Amino acid sequence: MCIQVANLFKCYGKHPAVKGISFNARPGRVLGFLGPNGAGKSTTLKILSGSIPLTAGQVSICGLDIQQNSLATRQYIGYLPENNPLYLDMYVHEALTFVAEMHHIVRAHERIAEVISLTGLEAEQQKKIGQLSKGYRQRVGFAQAILHDPEVLILDEPTSGLDPNQLQDIRLLIKQLSSQKTVLLSTHIMQEVEAICDDVVIIHQGQIVADFPLNELAAMYPGHRLESLFMRLTGPPSTRI
Ligand code: ADP
Repeated sequence: MCIQVANLFKCYGKHPAVKGISFNARPGRVLGFLGPNGAGKSTTLKILSGSIPLTAGQVSICGLDIQQNSLATRQYIGYLPENNPLYLDMYVHEALTFVAEMHHIVRAHERIAEVISLTGLEAEQQKKIGQLSKGYRQRVGFAQAILHDPEVLILDEPTSGLDPNQLQDIRLLIKQLSSQKTVLLSTHIMQEVEAICDDVVIIHQGQIVADFPLNELAAMYPGHRLESLFMRLTGPPSTRI
């Protein structure tokens, strides 16, 4: 297992946002982390990426506990945060050079060229990020996240706000990257999960309400499609399975 989460809690002050969740993510697969707004998805992903501390529980990335090895585990992780914050005044190539320096990447020039090609940014690399369309900005976010060739990719709502063509391109890119990595992506879009995910975890009000391989949906929840299962599990308590 590349990501192991055990009994994870997170409180913001007195407000419990994540209430004792456990799940695992496997290499070479895409895990869709689903939930309605406010369910605790971003909070969980921020903890996994080392951006905020956990309140209780254990998280290990590639066998290392994130609390005891916070610097080492960050090397294993590529993180694309929600809303993809970028330096809009920087040129694409310049921004990637900056990230390569942060990660002390050896042979940075070659690696940047490789990642630019992988993310389809050849024609944009000499442009300012602020000049790019949303889809291309998202590609820059991906390029930054994968530059140090992490084992694990954590993507928070990676296709939100994209038009259908851009959406298709980014989904293809995620699928392509997932063959060699463990990908964890949060979303509230069911078609996204059906298009690219292998495994599904559904979180609701800070707790996990389902965890299954997508190809076992029919066997585990007869008569349900993902959308109807999601509605039942995250609807009012009286309608829960
Ligand atoms: P999701 O990503 O599923 O929409 P979040 O993880 O953003 O959910 O939020 C989970 C809960 O934690 C929500 O009730 C939200 O209001 C709360 N929350 C998120 N971030 C903060 C914060 N920085 N301070 C206080 N409460 C927060």
